[in-house]
Amino acid sequence: MNHPTPEQPADVVARLRATFRTGRTKPVEWRTTQLRRLREMLTDNGADLAAALHADLGKSSAEAFRTEIDFTVREIDHTLDHLADWLRPESAPVPAHLGEDARAWTQYDPLGVVLVIAPWNYPAQLLLAPVVGALAAGNAVVAKPSELAPATSAALARLLPAYLDTDAVAVVEGGVPETTALLAERFDHIFYTGNGTVGRIVMRAAAEHLTPVALELGGKSPAFVDRDTDLDVVADRLVRGKFLNAGQTCVAPDYVLTDPATAAALEPALVRAVETLFGTDPSQSGEYGRIVNERHFDRLTGLLDSGRTVVGGDSDRTTKYLAPTVLADVAPDSPVMREEIFGPILPIVTVPGLDGAIDFITGRDKPLALYVFTESDDTRARIAAETSSGALGHGLPLAHLTVSDLPFGGVGESGMGSYHGRYSIETFSHRKAVLEKPLS
Ligand code: NAD
Repeated sequence: MNHPTPEQPADVVARLRATFRTGRTKPVEWRTTQLRRLREMLTDNGADLAAALHADLGKSSAEAFRTEIDFTVREIDHTLDHLADWLRPESAPVPAHLGEDARAWTQYDPLGVVLVIAPWNYPAQLLLAPVVGALAAGNAVVAKPSELAPATSAALARLLPAYLDTDAVAVVEGGVPETTALLAERFDHIFYTGNGTVGRIVMRAAAEHLTPVALELGGKSPAFVDRDTDLDVVADRLVRGKFLNAGQTCVAPDYVLTDPATAAALEPALVRAVETLFGTDPSQSGEYGRIVNERHFDRLTGLLDSGRTVVGGDSDRTTKYLAPTVLADVAPDSPVMREEIFGPILPIVTVPGLDGAIDFITGRDKPLALYVFTESDDTRARIAAETSSGALGHGLPLAHLTVSDLPFGGVGESGMGSYHGRYSIETFSHRKAVLEKPLS
């Protein structure tokens, strides 16, 4: 169906709900066809999407493919490989009082019409990966890209209807007014990725209709560096994880926690790692991104006074360039430590040692990710037992989210619910309990 004039949110939802009621989205064949079409959309139009991501965020083509386009293709392939298995009903033992001929099992039912609201930082991946899960679970989907990544939003609004079943999948573009109007409608699930302030607005709106939500939020993800580690390896991995997408990654290491002696030794290692990755002038590196808009640029440059600059610090508002920056001697209550940085500034905060680090982490909001660099099994075990975070990464930031069989999500202030792979099926389905007792 073509819709020359934009439909009202109520009409979009009613249209998709009517499709869902016909049962069209439920057969596995419909789901796998949609996933294959989505895969084709990505492979046919990879260059266009990469260009849009470059326009919005200065992402290099290699990074756009690695972190958004190919990432989503892998998620689709993993889902296509395993979907039949994941959807298989699971039998449950029946108690003796029901008799030997009774059977019980659970089966996954699609929820209905799902709303996916995406942010601007990985504007393709963070819209499409939840859509993969929602379709794989047999739902109709309204996809709302971020207005702060307008080129990617426009590309997805053009491409998705060209490839997918438009009676079951709709893209609604727009910002606060459009999203507010959508949120007034009754959905069967709302999947929101973004910040906690809007997460609360989403949850309040969902409560009106008793709609379940997944909130994929952010926060400050610490990186603890133990003494006696290979600091060149640590610095290389920290720099790659932190400065990808110019630090605008929800699971980027937000700050480093370490003891004073290790901090002093880590500083030159971080300088070397930045130079190795981006050269002495990162503004000339094709691999280094830009800040999404002036508002975030101004917010980030306002945080640069929070410590001594070890490397970076220079910026250019006209191109929204902010150099990969490391700050040392940062006080725990300085501005850069009071909010999620979400940009290319890496503060180093010192603590006396492991106990101090655990106190520091547990005294703050539960992070989306916690990274630990240590050679000690005891340290790993203590951190695993004594802290809570969405994910725990030993030795390598960010990489956990590329493991399709791990759930991706937060806890506490960093969110609720999870997805990727089979966890998307859990999120976008109702696990129905069924009991069967023969009549004769
Ligand atoms: P954003 O500004 O693009 O907002 C996200 C979405 O919320 C957009 O689609 C936007 O239109 C919508 N929105 C904004 N204000 C709204 C309102 N008042 N009512 C209804 N909808 C509204 O993105 P953002 O929030 O700046 O994203 C950055 C945050 O997202 C960071 O905190 C980051 O850590 C987090 N994040 C989390 C994940 C994750 O997977 N956990 C991934 C990426 C980003």
